[in-house]
Amino acid sequence: MDKINQVLNSDAGASEMALIQAAYFVAALLFIFSLAGLSKQESAENGVWYGIIGMLIALVATIFDPSVTNITYIIIAMVIGGAIGVRFAVKVEMTQMPELVAMLHSFVGLAAVAVGYNSFLEHGEMSGMMLNIHLVEVFLGVFIGAVTFTGSVVAFGKLRGILSSSPLMLPHRHKMNLLAGLVSLVLMVYFVQQEGHINSLIIMTVIALIFGWHLVASIGGADMPVVVSMLNSYSGWAAASAGFMLGNDLLIVTGALVGSSGAILSYIMCRAMNRSFISVIAGGFGQEVSLNTDQDYGEYVETNAEDVADMLKNAKSVIITPGYGMAVAQAQNAVSEITKMLRDKGVNVRFGIHPVAGRLPGHMNVLLAEAKVPYDIVLEMDEINEDFDETDVVLVIGANDTVNPSAAEDPNSPIAGMPVLEVWNAKQVIAFKRSMNPGYAGVQNPLFFKSNTSMLFGDARDSVENIAKAI
Ligand code: NDP
Repeated sequence: MDKINQVLNSDAGASEMALIQAAYFVAALLFIFSLAGLSKQESAENGVWYGIIGMLIALVATIFDPSVTNITYIIIAMVIGGAIGVRFAVKVEMTQMPELVAMLHSFVGLAAVAVGYNSFLEHGEMSGMMLNIHLVEVFLGVFIGAVTFTGSVVAFGKLRGILSSSPLMLPHRHKMNLLAGLVSLVLMVYFVQQEGHINSLIIMTVIALIFGWHLVASIGGADMPVVVSMLNSYSGWAAASAGFMLGNDLLIVTGALVGSSGAILSYIMCRAMNRSFISVIAGGFGQEVSLNTDQDYGEYVETNAEDVADMLKNAKSVIITPGYGMAVAQAQNAVSEITKMLRDKGVNVRFGIHPVAGRLPGHMNVLLAEAKVPYDIVLEMDEINEDFDETDVVLVIGANDTVNPSAAEDPNSPIAGMPVLEVWNAKQVIAFKRSMNPGYAGVQNPLFFKSNTSMLFGDARDSVENIAKAI
């Protein structure tokens, strides 16, 4: 604080500060352009560039901020952090992206906790209303940061498969969540009344860490996409609260952009999956599910690449519904190739994309765009769901939960109520997978046992390449 005042009191310092504020303003505008660009496939690449340039401007402006001391430490930390970041970014498979994102959110949460404690211990000369406001900022910042930290660690564990994707059903779990919220509120009042009572801050931090862990552990596998985007939103609010504590306007703006866009995305995803937003963010509040693993689904039928190739050559209309397995097998180029072959033969080939197919929003769209599948034949679930009953063949390539009829037919299923691609209405369905194992939500799929479905076992890329050869 003293250093900032000293800097502001000198003419040179004041003009440098003005320059930095201008740089922050430009960076904030670029972040807004970036979000706007990312909302459409055609402009997404530009959106990424706006984001990169904005972040570069923000970093340079922050490093040259005249109130910043110990620039050497900052540069050392940036070089180490940057090197680790580049290594992860180069190594990560696209299917591991949500794990990486969850891990990065956990860092934002942890940083907000550290900033909170630091600005509590070193808040300089403050009193009266200013002190009260500062203490509320610290308390909320640490709370949001701690919830984001453990919540993201659990999300990482679930996505990585280290932790079970089934919801943790502790008795009285919703009452425990409510209690944790109420106790934290009381502690905040006490913390402010006592003008910063460190023990209440520490107790709240422990409660918030357990609360974040429990909140995400109670959410089932199929709702994880919402959880990831919700944690994205929390990490934004954690960054914004760190911005308030540090008096950094750009961090406040950026945090608010991330926080609100993450919240809007979570809401849109909840609507697309017919989930209650409140229920999901409150750790599955109001949802009681039962897993029935002993049910007898009957027999399934196997097929082979040659028969599928014949079926496709004789079809007039084909819909391909890709899922996580297409990404794992990296089958998108082979899929693009058979699409072109069939279209050249006059077959009407289209794609049906479920909003949560794969492991991150837009996952399938990115893969298909990368494999140069034309945008105009890639349709959203709502645009194509009514067309299945007039379709000759559906190729379900590595998708499972997103084409599971139990979502519509079994009210006790963990994915009950989630809209799915109604592929079973087509004349023939071919399901590409390696085994009869369930999908991410851990539930068996009755589609595979229907009389118009045949299973094509094997790695999706090999299977599609074999079909291409046979065509
Ligand atoms: P699923 O995870 O339900 O199923 C994927 C299928 O792909 C499995 O049946 C698997 O079967 C098969 N598979 C895996 N590897 C291969 C391979 N190499 N070749 C052929 N098949 C393969 O996928 P969906 O896309 O249908 O559903 C996505 C699920 O992920 C939903 O439950 C969603 O909620 C969740 N989720 C989505 C996120 C998002 O933002 N989109 C984020 C986090 C979770 P087998 O092992 O037998 O081969």
